[in-house]
Amino acid sequence: MKGLTTAIKDAASVLGLSGTKGGIDSLLLHAEQSDMTHAEFLNYIFSQEIKYRTDRAKEKRIKESGLPYIKTLDDFDVSFQKSISAKQLKQLSELKWIEQTYNLMFFGPPGVGKTHLSISLAYKAAQEGYRVVFTTMTSLMQSLRTAEISKRSKTKLNRIYHASLVVIDEVGYLPIERTDANLFFQLVTDLHEQASIIITTNKGFEEWTEFLGDPALTTAVLDRLTYRCDMINLEGRSYRLENHKSFLKQQENN
Ligand code: ADP
Ligand code: MG
Repeated sequence: MKGLTTAIKDAASVLGLSGTKGGIDSLLLHAEQSDMTHAEFLNYIFSQEIKYRTDRAKEKRIKESGLPYIKTLDDFDVSFQKSISAKQLKQLSELKWIEQTYNLMFFGPPGVGKTHLSISLAYKAAQEGYRVVFTTMTSLMQSLRTAEISKRSKTKLNRIYHASLVVIDEVGYLPIERTDANLFFQLVTDLHEQASIIITTNKGFEEWTEFLGDPALTTAVLDRLTYRCDMINLEGRSYRLENHKSFLKQQENN
């Protein structure tokens, strides 16, 4: 039996069936404990291998997405953030907007949930098979500037160019140089109608000129970003301030 198991593992290895190779003992045990027919067992092996591969691919997509942490739509309290309804959130969570290359822009002051919503939509998309990249504007600019000399930047940009969804978080927090603004414009143009983009920003459109440094360029960037786009103004109080936690107070209560 041991020799046979080794032979199966070797064959699975030659065929590139990693799931079957690693799971052969439990596959056999499962077959022994249930009274499967031969056909059912064969089908079971194949379906387990497929599941193994889909799970690995999903893990890889999530790992490579660059999401800084995980937030989910279920964690998002729509009773606290009234600028978006439960129905709208549900519609966004169905991800048809990615299929139809719509963009999303979340506007608002700090703590209103812009990053939370972006991360949770991107996470859902990665789970469902879309290629996703999350980046802050600062990190994106760094990658664009160093694409020629840094392998890391090149890899990141490659992922961006092959993604179905690119999240650019914190756009407009810092003014950028003219050359950087051109690089940003080029990227937006390249992604236009190829991928969905989520932008989070604390700046209204009228302030984008100041941040990008040139009115004509700003118009061209916004023209592309907003062509097929839902613009969501998140208003209200900061969830962080409202749910402020104190380490020292927590110690007192213990
Ligand atoms: P910003 O708008 O500054 O990007 P974040 O999305 O980072 O804000 O939100 C700040 C913190 O508050 C995060 O931990 C986030 O999970 C939480 N938060 C914000 N809004 C909500 C909400 N409506 N429901 C649950 N958590 C929220
Ligand atoms: Mg944020």
